[in-house]
Amino acid sequence: MSDCLFCKIAAGQIPSNKLYEDEQLLAFYDIDPQAPLHFLVIPKQHITSAAALTEENAALLGHVFAVIAALCRELGVAESGYRVVTNVGQDGGQSVPHLHFHVLAKRSLAWPPG
Ligand code: AMP
Ligand code: ZN
Repeated sequence: MSDCLFCKIAAGQIPSNKLYEDEQLLAFYDIDPQAPLHFLVIPKQHITSAAALTEENAALLGHVFAVIAALCRELGVAESGYRVVTNVGQDGGQSVPHLHFHVLAKRSLAWPPG
């Protein structure tokens, strides 16, 4: 999608602080971190939110979570723990309409979220 911020980041048209990239995914640090470690994982393909996912996205989602697990091991937070969040729509607090998974770590996270 031509006017989508995260499509532009995925295409390298807008710079990001990249953590990981492959053919399907990009992981980069959040510009406004909500925890000492806060990065985002996005599919390069434009998907508006988790509400648009179908069975056809099963392999992509498996890959997303495998990459998150590997990155969290590399970053040393696999044992201390972390949170993976995807916000959907207005009430879910989604501000960028391109599917993304927040990964937050290195502090104790409250539950329930606000
Ligand atoms: P959400 O509110 O769940 O849609 O999350 C969007 C996230 O994208 C927020 O945590 C923002 O801080 C983050 N964000 C927005 N613009 C950028 C950017 N250019 N680079 C990195 N993160 C960004
Ligand atoms: Zn997009």
